[in-house]
Amino acid sequence: MDQSIIISGARQHNLKNIHLALPRNKLIVITGVSGSGKSSLAFNTLFAEGQRRYIEALSTSARHFLHQLDAPEVDEIRGLSPAIAIEQKGLPRNPRSTVGTLTEIHDHLRLLYTHLGTVFCPQCNLPIRAYTILQMSHEIQQDWPEGSRLLIMAPLVPIDEKNLPNLLKRLRKDGFARIRSNGRIYELEPLPHLPRSPSYDIDIVVDRLILKHTQESRLLDSLELASKMGHGTVTVVRIEGDEKVFSESHQCLSCGFTAPEMSPSLFSFQHPLGSCPVCKGLGYVTERAHAGQAEKPSRPRTEGIDWDCWMEEPFNDSDEMEEGQVPCPGCRGTRLNDASRSVRLNGLGIHEVSRLSIPAIRQWILKLPLSPSQELIAERPRREILFRLSSLEELGLSYLTLDRPANTLSGGEAQRIRLAHQISAPLSGVLYVLDEPSIGLHPRDHERLIQVLFRLRDSGNTVVVVEHDRETILQADYVVDMGPGAGVQGGEVLFEGPPEALKSHTSSLTGLYLSGKKSIPIPNRRKPFQNGALTLTGARGHNLKGITVQFPLGCLICVTGVSGSGKSTLVMHTLYRALAQKFYRSKAKPEPFSELQNTESIEKVILIDQSPLGRTPRSTPATYSGVFDQIRQLFSRTPDARAAGFSPSRFSFNAKGGRCESCRGEGFQRIDMYFLPDIYVTCSVCNGSRFNAETLKIQIKGKSIAEVLDMSVMEAMALFENFPAIHHKLQTFLEVGLGYLRLGQPATTLSGGEAQRVRLATELSRKTGGKTLYILDEPTTGLHFEDILRLLQILQRLVDRGNTVILIEHHPDVIKTADYVIDLGPEGGEEGGYIVATGRPEEIVEAGDSQTGLYLRRFFV
Ligand code: ADP
Ligand code: ADP
Ligand code: ZN
Repeated sequence: MDQSIIISGARQHNLKNIHLALPRNKLIVITGVSGSGKSSLAFNTLFAEGQRRYIEALSTSARHFLHQLDAPEVDEIRGLSPAIAIEQKGLPRNPRSTVGTLTEIHDHLRLLYTHLGTVFCPQCNLPIRAYTILQMSHEIQQDWPEGSRLLIMAPLVPIDEKNLPNLLKRLRKDGFARIRSNGRIYELEPLPHLPRSPSYDIDIVVDRLILKHTQESRLLDSLELASKMGHGTVTVVRIEGDEKVFSESHQCLSCGFTAPEMSPSLFSFQHPLGSCPVCKGLGYVTERAHAGQAEKPSRPRTEGIDWDCWMEEPFNDSDEMEEGQVPCPGCRGTRLNDASRSVRLNGLGIHEVSRLSIPAIRQWILKLPLSPSQELIAERPRREILFRLSSLEELGLSYLTLDRPANTLSGGEAQRIRLAHQISAPLSGVLYVLDEPSIGLHPRDHERLIQVLFRLRDSGNTVVVVEHDRETILQADYVVDMGPGAGVQGGEVLFEGPPEALKSHTSSLTGLYLSGKKSIPIPNRRKPFQNGALTLTGARGHNLKGITVQFPLGCLICVTGVSGSGKSTLVMHTLYRALAQKFYRSKAKPEPFSELQNTESIEKVILIDQSPLGRTPRSTPATYSGVFDQIRQLFSRTPDARAAGFSPSRFSFNAKGGRCESCRGEGFQRIDMYFLPDIYVTCSVCNGSRFNAETLKIQIKGKSIAEVLDMSVMEAMALFENFPAIHHKLQTFLEVGLGYLRLGQPATTLSGGEAQRVRLATELSRKTGGKTLYILDEPTTGLHFEDILRLLQILQRLVDRGNTVILIEHHPDVIKTADYVIDLGPEGGEEGGYIVATGRPEEIVEAGDSQTGLYLRRFFV
């Protein structure tokens, strides 16, 4: 019994009072057509309840919010563990987030630089302060437990050596300690935000050189760093330095450059001590600001930048350097100030390490020239960094560099970074819930991903994955197949058990596709190449090697290749932006290329990508597609609305008048949980309906505007069957597999794939005359084989009408149906950016060195 998670009577969303017994400590895949209830089960039931229990276990202040968290609709769940969701949604919006900070590799590098770096005078290139650590006190060395964590805390007051054992004991026992100095009492508390716990200890390095010059803020800074690095045993190391050496040489003798004081903040672009004063750590400036900067002679930075004000600056929402943004002239895009960049370790500044490839960082760090006592300091951070580098490689992310801005990552990349983070510091006894981790991965890299999931499982965790990928389903320990249809037609468990048994299960679509009894057909005829081609020459953005690419018009084209090979750079950042500039005077600059020929053969270009439809819950499928405008019109024309004098805007939750003013039409209120993600609770005034009582009185066929927003597309189609304009728009939603979507679902809760299909539906409901170029980024995201079949029919229809469709795609079942394939590679990053093969799918199979060809072979034997 206690080997399973027992779910009884789950009714969240469309779930039909289902019962399940999921084996613990196994890899479990939940699959089924889109809208069948996979997420309702995995995220809204299992994860939601696991998270509630996790919060329950936390401090009283967190528990205070618990009663406000909506409990999932389920009778009982037994055998559940605390849960962690690793999602694709919610890219970090902080423009100072990078791959380095997300993975925490940058934090560990900061420690290495603080303790082992050497300052070089920027003008004279002379080493100024050799930061030598001479000796460790024996007594304390013996106290060093095996495998303990090394965390650095620079105390603001000198700690007397004879007090150390006592202090250590108290930190271990109580989680905090007090020291008295000069008549003042200082409290040392390891983790300022987290509940005190005997299991949450930190290690201390007492460093005399730092000690003399520390300021109060340093302590907090180191503590913050410590808290990021997690659990461990308390260890105190005392390091002695030669103060004379320090005071004599900390200025450059020839030019007077003063060496900075070493502290982790010096290497942080998220902190005033380390960041470039011109761009404040962003790495870029807007052209106007840049011009202004040039007029005024640049002023040396004064000490106290007001950090609070700085953080208040609105974050830039764009995913790229915007119009007018240029690399910052102050730091040449490195985000760090001169002092920070003057410190080198093994020949490189921290900003230079951040630009290395992952294998190069490994070489650099393995070859650090260190004395035995420095080795001791380096050991822990180095181990942490190496762990994290391997995790990134395992997840097919070795083409990323640490300085890559987080807001330029795709959802799949961000999710795999989160996953890498989990496996580098593995927990156990946790329920992990993941959403389609194979997104954006070439089939070549799926195998390693599955191994990573197994590793997570083998550390004693239950891993639940919502997934459509054939290999992942087949290798899982246990499969749950949801269905049979979407929305009200779904919500049932069609099958649960080992994947082999699912293959012989003939009443499940998944089973039929897995066994090959059903399959996506290869078209008998491919489109001829008779309409000319868009020709892009000399594309050299990011890693592209000056390639020339033909996109045959009137065809379905797939751009393929391992992740990081350059697909998005080619299609999104070069081709699309060049066309958008021409057709729409878009300001986003394309990546460099020489020429784009034959653009007069198309009339417009439409990008259907996976970026969020909107950044706020005010944006919904209904507002985005415009169908809400028509529905509001309809409401305003009812006799009751006329009598009350309500115009269409009365039925908007974005305008004052009809909406609930308590939540300003959002339907819920946000609660800041500090160290946990924000929590949303239903507005208690309007009960989540977003509208005020007078507005809700107006009804069509007995339904208020709020009830309409709460309907799925399919339900709304029935309600509006006599209103052709509305019905037609909703019909296209149904065609792209979104019949289950609720009209008023906040855009922030849609997955990338759903957002993309809302865009596709919106485009399809417009009249087109052919000659349009559609660009889609991995449109199979979130789709079951059966949904893909339908999607391909829609895309074929567009091509039949004379349009051109370009897909970035990994799914072999889609690539095999393309008229033309452009395969990039051979690898990701610098070793990619070449064209490996082009032609019909059959021809790609023949091309010897195409990774993609390898995976297509089975369809063409
Ligand atoms: P899947 O993950 O299989 O694609 P979901 O679990 O997301 O399916 O959706 C199953 C059903 O639940 C759909 O009918 C969908 O409209 C409904 N649903 C999803 N999210 C919500 C929500 N937040 N509120 C109400 N219904 C929802
Ligand atoms: P794919 O789409 O095939 O996964 P990308 O075009 O995203 O590949 O990436 C190709 C190369 O360009 C990679 O080395 C990647 O790290 C780099 N790259 C992509 N986008 C950016 C960006 N915004 N800034 C810097 N480098 C980038
Ligand atoms: Zn409200």
